[in-house]
Amino acid sequence: MSGRILIVDDIATNRILYRARLAAAFYDPQLASTGAGCLAMAAELRPDLILLDLHLPDLPGHVVLRRLRANPVTRDIPVIVLSATADRESRLAAYAAGADDVIGKPANEAVLLARVRNLLRARAGAEFAAGEAMVAQGFAEPAAAFDRGATVAVVADRIDMARQLQGDLAGELGDRLLALSRPQALADAALADAGLAGVPDVFILQEDGSDTASTLRLLSELKSHQATRHSAVCVLGRSGEGDEAAIAFDLGADDVVGPDVSAAELALRTRSLIRRKRRGDQNRARIEDGLRLAMVDPLTGLFNRRYAMPRLAAIAARAAGTGTAFAVMVVDLDRFKLVNDQHGHGVGDQVLVEVSRRLTANLRAGDLLARIGGEEFLVALPEASMPLARSVAERLCQAIEERPIRLASGVLLAVTVSIGVAVSDGAGARVATADQVVEAADLALLDSKGSGRNQVTFRLSAA
Ligand code: GH3
Ligand code: MG
Ligand code: MG
Repeated sequence: MSGRILIVDDIATNRILYRARLAAAFYDPQLASTGAGCLAMAAELRPDLILLDLHLPDLPGHVVLRRLRANPVTRDIPVIVLSATADRESRLAAYAAGADDVIGKPANEAVLLARVRNLLRARAGAEFAAGEAMVAQGFAEPAAAFDRGATVAVVADRIDMARQLQGDLAGELGDRLLALSRPQALADAALADAGLAGVPDVFILQEDGSDTASTLRLLSELKSHQATRHSAVCVLGRSGEGDEAAIAFDLGADDVVGPDVSAAELALRTRSLIRRKRRGDQNRARIEDGLRLAMVDPLTGLFNRRYAMPRLAAIAARAAGTGTAFAVMVVDLDRFKLVNDQHGHGVGDQVLVEVSRRLTANLRAGDLLARIGGEEFLVALPEASMPLARSVAERLCQAIEERPIRLASGVLLAVTVSIGVAVSDGAGARVATADQVVEAADLALLDSKGSGRNQVTFRLSAA
């Protein structure tokens, strides 16, 4: 983590003080003294975090916050507001404007540094780095259900306390609110691991006289369950104050709040946790989409060449290790250019999709099928001898030929494929490499084309 932190304060001694503290903790502090300077440096330097004093000479701090949040380049940068006059109203206004935390000055240094570590850690998570990189590369935003209401679980030792806070928050938050006892919260987390229960977006862990250690233990438990580790957790109570807060942050709390918080402020802070949780969900979804796109052909849903070639190399290596046979086929549509020319590219695409479907239906789960070119498919059969490869290839050829393809328009279109097959028979010490077998299959395909198409030709590969 680079840990570049932008310190924004109009008083030079404050800037110098915070710079010294952050530099001593091995962060990379940068300084700004005005709101305009903050906005410019935030966009230019893309700091990992901003410490923002609300009292600035040129712009009100809330305006700076809102502008940071309105700019796509800076909207996800966490902001800790440091304020000498952190009265209830200005705190509320800062949260409403998008602050991640509001800390009164002078700040408890241990808590401030723990808060900094915590916010930087959340950003250092793979999903944020990859998410931002993918946005930069033009990957589309996945269609996250942003307007779906969130689920917020209030967890307390005594269920009646949880119910009371649930009632207080119900007037402020439009989201689904659950009241849970601590054992219930843990039991639900275990069920959720098994896919048997839903997962709240936010947990509010309320301390009600129970010792702080058990609250922090519950926090750690929730952060270690597969299902709940991405949920945001807010610790509310005595642990939300003083040095205990620093521990809670280091254990992964996403927010810690003292016991005297108003329902309005807690609701605003919860909303900001929901927003952050959603952003994380969205980035994770984007990564999954990206990984899938990297190996799957979007038209047919088959693996692409980039995925197939290393897989084939692994099949060949395993065959070499065990001295067993394997077969490779290259399947190519016959006179496919004519289909496009006569019926249009859209019909060509429909044909490719239906051919893919039929090939899939006639192969086993352990076989490899990929679209390696426009109208060219690769099939690899691990542990397949010549007779088996022959019967599979003939079955594939027949599966395409035997029934014309029904287009979306209702028109029936007759299509055929030519197939070249090469088998590495695994006899003796010499087993062909993946490249040798594909090359032999390509030559066999040429023979199929040359002999009139719609047929299968064999080559015994280099073994
Ligand atoms: P042959 O029997 O010798 O294989 O003839 P062919 O027409 O199938 O082969 P050729 O290589 O001349 O043409 C392949 C055609 O495949 C050209 C191209 O327009 C078409 N094609 C490649 N990818 C796609 C695709 O994704 N969608 C559509 N509709 N057509 C594609
Ligand atoms: Mg062709
Ligand atoms: Mg071709």
